[in-house]
Amino acid sequence: MKIIVNGREAGTRDTGCALCGSTWGDYYEEIDGQRLFFCCNLCAKGFTNIAEGIKGAWGPFEVLTIDGSYSTGRHCTAMKGDQRRTFFVRFTDNADIEVFRQEQ
Ligand SMILES: [Zn+2]
Repeated sequence: MKIIVNGREAGTRDTGCALCGSTWGDYYEEIDGQRLFFCCNLCAKGFTNIAEGIKGAWGPFEVLTIDGSYSTGRHCTAMKGDQRRTFFVRFTDNADIEVFRQEQ
């Protein structure tokens, strides 16, 4: 899975947290066999919730772009081949899903 956060590739220590793009922190989680870098466990939980939510609603995907922040909510576009779906996601303080809706 390729991940782009606010316009920049992310998901490794060098590129930044797979959810928020931060380069601080030291937390890894394996998702679909891919070891992803996160700044903290809450970002890992939030990302997992997004990935699982999209897979449940649409199926597996190859690229995920995430735009936004904790306060604004995030527009998440999943792509496979030439297909794409965008979802709006907002989290609670605990990185649980508060809002999850398909936008297109
Ligand atoms: Zn983060």
